[in-house]
Amino acid sequence: MSVGNRMSLTAKVLTGMGLGIVLGLAFNLTGMNAPGTLVNEYVVNGLFHVIGTMFVNLLKMLVVPLVFFSLICGVCGIGDIRMLGRVGSKSFGLYMLTTAMAIATAIIIASVFGIGQGLEMTTETTFAGAEAPPLTQVLIDIIPTNPISAMANGDMLPIIFFSIIAGISVLMVGNKAKSFVEGAEIANEVMMKMVTIVMALAPYAVFVLIARAVANLGLDLLVSLAGYVLVLVGALMFHLFVTLMVVLKVFSGLNPVTFMNKIRNVQVFAFSTASSNATIPVTMRTVTQRFGVNNSVASFTVPFGATINMDGTAIMQGVATVFIANVYGVELGIGGYLTVILMSVLASIGTAGVPGVGLIMLSMVFAQVGLPIEGIGLVLGVDRLMDMIRTAVNVSGDAAVSTIVAKSEGKLDVSVYDDPNAGVLDGDEGIHIDAQAEHDIADLVEATHSR
Ligand code: ASP
Repeated sequence: MSVGNRMSLTAKVLTGMGLGIVLGLAFNLTGMNAPGTLVNEYVVNGLFHVIGTMFVNLLKMLVVPLVFFSLICGVCGIGDIRMLGRVGSKSFGLYMLTTAMAIATAIIIASVFGIGQGLEMTTETTFAGAEAPPLTQVLIDIIPTNPISAMANGDMLPIIFFSIIAGISVLMVGNKAKSFVEGAEIANEVMMKMVTIVMALAPYAVFVLIARAVANLGLDLLVSLAGYVLVLVGALMFHLFVTLMVVLKVFSGLNPVTFMNKIRNVQVFAFSTASSNATIPVTMRTVTQRFGVNNSVASFTVPFGATINMDGTAIMQGVATVFIANVYGVELGIGGYLTVILMSVLASIGTAGVPGVGLIMLSMVFAQVGLPIEGIGLVLGVDRLMDMIRTAVNVSGDAAVSTIVAKSEGKLDVSVYDDPNAGVLDGDEGIHIDAQAEHDIADLVEATHSR
């Protein structure tokens, strides 16, 4: 496929994002989006809300079948089942390591800047701490009592568990199961085509999602919380551009610049949806087709990472802990901060990558170290924007670890990784049907009917 002079999908998506920011700011700064105005009711919270949510639903619609079929294919295509254990333990170790590094960096940076010290803040919004599941329950819930209900609820860990067991059982059945594997391969390919259809709509969807988010931003809140916001964004950027890239280089030897160039699409999707889970289809496509990670690794590491790996969220927890401890004049000490690190890492295992879940994890951490939960109300107003940014960091971590693990297992096609055009989608490719194939399939259906 030639990308020629047509705009690549990434360029279109970035344009949509830029225009969305401009329009959102225009609505915000001119007061056109004040509550009760026509723009606010019918455009921002009407049309934009509907289109944006429909698009996020489209992505979510793909997640469960994609994970299920690609994991079955992944397990069947791995070639040596012992590799599965290694991929599992390596990715788990790296996910936990990068999350711990993320939160430690965040605590150090936030402490150096002393954010929140001497601030007298009143919380206007109250935050009632929600419960995150205890670790024992997380472990129990890995095994679904009913795989269909796990799929219906989109519970990632039990879906992963069931799909792996299914894949292993297919291998045990052996040659007799060949047609089943072929069917799963085709289903996986069909799901990937659905991903390209949805991605083709992304430029427009990203435009409305971003325009709405920016139009609804409390800019005055951003200013009053400038210290918190700046330190948090700084720590997130440090993790993305320095820590993760050093980890990528050290563990895989691959070029971090190539990684950064190719991951942009995934980051924009994560930024606009604020959900690592909804971004799974795009992460999966990018990691396999743009980075050259074999499906046998990516089918496991990507959904696993979306669930248990949250570097950006951990950074928010580190910065928010220091900020709120300082505002309330609580001295946490080294022991307190170590507890925060441990709790954040553990909390990330049991919570799914969906919007706003970081705050739930934060209330769990606060309860553990004795910080006032209502303090979370202080940062609530800016959390949506922070959520969008940290989700982009979360998915970058998922992709980086997937790439490292694949490289270490000889399951990375380095020529694909190094090729800047590998797997590039041009904006029109999404909905292309080959006329000959269309006729052939229609004939096949006809023939089957009249049999
Ligand atoms: N929205 C984040 C994610 O999906 C989680 C969070 O930080 O709230 O990865």
